[in-house]
Amino acid sequence: MKGAVIIDGRALAAALRQRVAAAAARLKEGAGIVPGLATILVGDDPASLSYVRSKACAAVEAGLACFEQHLPADTAEPALVAEVRRLVADERVDAILVQLPLPPQIDADRVIAAIDPAKDVDGFHPLNVGRLWRGRPGLVPCTVRADLAGAEAVVIGRSNIVGKPAAALLLAAGCTVTLVHSQSRDKAAICRRADILVAAAGRARLVTQEWIKPGAIVIDVGINPVIGMDGKRHIVGDVDYAAARAVAGAITPVPGGVGPMTIACVLGNTLLAACRRRGIAEPAL
Ligand code: NAP
Repeated sequence: MKGAVIIDGRALAAALRQRVAAAAARLKEGAGIVPGLATILVGDDPASLSYVRSKACAAVEAGLACFEQHLPADTAEPALVAEVRRLVADERVDAILVQLPLPPQIDADRVIAAIDPAKDVDGFHPLNVGRLWRGRPGLVPCTVRADLAGAEAVVIGRSNIVGKPAAALLLAAGCTVTLVHSQSRDKAAICRRADILVAAAGRARLVTQEWIKPGAIVIDVGINPVIGMDGKRHIVGDVDYAAARAVAGAITPVPGGVGPMTIACVLGNTLLAACRRRGIAEPAL
């Protein structure tokens, strides 16, 4: 059997970032607008720090304005909510990204609820979640614009951050969608039905070859640090990549698959938010 097509997230993300940069340049020239992304990081988790830095650097590279806030790990919830409200009121800010997870003393739901839905770059505000499930997306994570109508899709994971929005997007695209989670029975059998399998469990190499229908599209969202045979720390996905490649029709590698697209989509959503807030025609990204 010939191996899977490798979905090159880095190349796709680079192309999207270029389109965002070109659209941002036109917006600046034509209307004098520089879309602004504000990021808030609470605490010093190294992975979160690295994600936030990557998004901020990518924003600046694309010609967007970036406002970075780094608050101490012991920040109280009212102080963080006040910071979010300050950014909501700031006209230079079109998009607000609060890096999750937050420290235990803070209720993430209350912080997200304080974000103006029009500036909610991650699409986590209840209003945007509701719009997504009603098939009227506001700001949502980007997805593959392929014809997926009628396809059987299985999403592993039911978090508000990845699993549920991925399921809503696949449903909106016409797929028959099943969510698998930690309490699901016979996970492998359910997954093996999938034409499109999205793995977002946060469990290293959970998905083995037996979970994959030959020819399926496998999207691996997992980011799991493991110690390799060389004694060094590596990042692997939720899918046993080497084995899956032999049966899948197409697959995203980790790293270099979903991760870079996530960053590029943050930039795209910032630009769209800047246009929507001002009633300007949105560029096609
Ligand atoms: P999460 O909140 O921990 O949710 C994990 C989900 O997976 C839960 O719904 C859990 O089920 C389910 N699950 C756990 N073990 C399972 C198993 N053995 N079989 C089936 N389901 C299982 O994680 P998350 O925030 O959604 O993130 C998931 C993964 O994506 C993580 O590795 C994270 O680092 C990664 N991620 C990547 C990006 C990116 O840009 N590439 C962005 C965000 C997150 P229950 O609900 O029953 O507990």
